[in-house]
Amino acid sequence: MDRPLVVVCVDGCQFEYITAAVAAGAAPFLGRLLAGGGTCFIADCVMPSFTNPNNLSIVTGVPPAVHGICGNYFFDPESGEEVMMNDPRFLRVGTILAAFSAAGAKVAVITAKDKLRKLLGSGMKGICFSSERADQVTLAENGIDDVLDRVGMPVPSVYSAALSEFVFVAGVKLMERERPDLMYLSTTDYIQHKAAPGTPLANDFYAMMDRNLARLDTLGATIVVTADHGMNAKHGADGQPNVIYLQDSLDAWLGLQRARVILPITDPYVVHHGALGSFALVYLTALDGQPQIAERIAALPGIETVLGRAEAAARFELPSDRIGDLVVVSRLDTVIGTSRDRHDLSGLDVPLRSHGGTSEQKVPLLVNRGVTQPPAAHRWRNFDAFDLGLNLAARTA
Ligand SMILES: [Zn+2]
Repeated sequence: MDRPLVVVCVDGCQFEYITAAVAAGAAPFLGRLLAGGGTCFIADCVMPSFTNPNNLSIVTGVPPAVHGICGNYFFDPESGEEVMMNDPRFLRVGTILAAFSAAGAKVAVITAKDKLRKLLGSGMKGICFSSERADQVTLAENGIDDVLDRVGMPVPSVYSAALSEFVFVAGVKLMERERPDLMYLSTTDYIQHKAAPGTPLANDFYAMMDRNLARLDTLGATIVVTADHGMNAKHGADGQPNVIYLQDSLDAWLGLQRARVILPITDPYVVHHGALGSFALVYLTALDGQPQIAERIAALPGIETVLGRAEAAARFELPSDRIGDLVVVSRLDTVIGTSRDRHDLSGLDVPLRSHGGTSEQKVPLLVNRGVTQPPAAHRWRNFDAFDLGLNLAARTA
């Protein structure tokens, strides 16, 4: 490496957020990258287009079929329990970050939400902390201390733009003082769930990001910016979310306790999306009627695709032992719920924006340098980010 590499995963960064902020004059640094000062690709994220599977793909360079993390939850039919997948024991490969730290590189990871910290830091020596728990860091656990003093910000609310700003400001401070060889910054999509591209709230967020990226650029880092997934409006003209309550439909068709709907978007922080996304898993107690059930789900208005386990594992590069008998994807403007009475939508103070489907698969992949040997007809993936920054970005004197 001729200089440090910073890979930034901007949570929920539909490409239009960047182009709209640039058009509004709010993001001059990103504007320079788009105008030829860097290299820009549109890449595909992994399915489901959720946060954890994609963050893990970016730091491992492989799809969920290989690394094993395909959502926040999976259902263990043996125990009948929904198991949270935020523990490193569910990770089936090592990370690029861990490999670099083992080879003696100075590595740093800063994530907005603490739910990702242990997975991202799995097997890694170096600095690893979340802005959510920035007041609880210790040298022993996080490889750094006094983070609040260094950053000069209080611990942000978990539902705020400041949670992501803290990640960027801390990243700049680390680059100034510790100068890690490799740094991974991962934000949260609180703003993207609330605000459409080009709105003042969104442009302010990208302006904040732009200032900090420009600073990292001045400090001489190669910067790769990508996203874990896009983000789309999932509501009708009346502002009400377009929801298919799939558990209610299955219960009505099959009787109670014949099918179980799992929403892998569910996590402890559901206020801003009500646990509603465009991807669901269905577990069936008996498989004999599966094709008919799949057909019936596919006929519901707003459903895009219903696949059996093997087909879904192959098409979406998913671990077949951690998905349902059926994998269901809804269309761009529609989300899938379990039962109506299990979703608390009282926290949705603006019309629903969410993700999870193939409609949120297109994400930006930008680097602040030229690219020496762009592979011909390459399907760029967000998990090419480290390869792009380390191996394909042009070296300069
Ligand atoms: Zn996300």
